[in-house]
Amino acid sequence: MPTYDYPCVECGHRFEHFQNMSDALLETRPECGGKLRRLIGTGAAVIFKGSGFLLDRLSKLPAELRAQQALLRTRYAVRHQAV
Ligand SMILES: [Zn+2]
Repeated sequence: MPTYDYPCVECGHRFEHFQNMSDALLETRPECGGKLRRLIGTGAAVIFKGSGFLLDRLSKLPAELRAQQALLRTRYAVRHQAV
């Protein structure tokens, strides 16, 4: 579930909100009635950082292990496409 950043256009207050992509957007901040914008929050950034870290780790593995990992990933992808 992604975290969204909601900066308030009126007062500049900014808060994070956990919600599903299918959930309705927050439009106004109850505390001040100001309009809100929605930005992808830090929760998503952590995920990107995490996968970058993983890729970095993989690139340092011996070639043999990396080939094995690539094979596993391909099998996984194929299995999920078939479903
Ligand atoms: Zn506000």
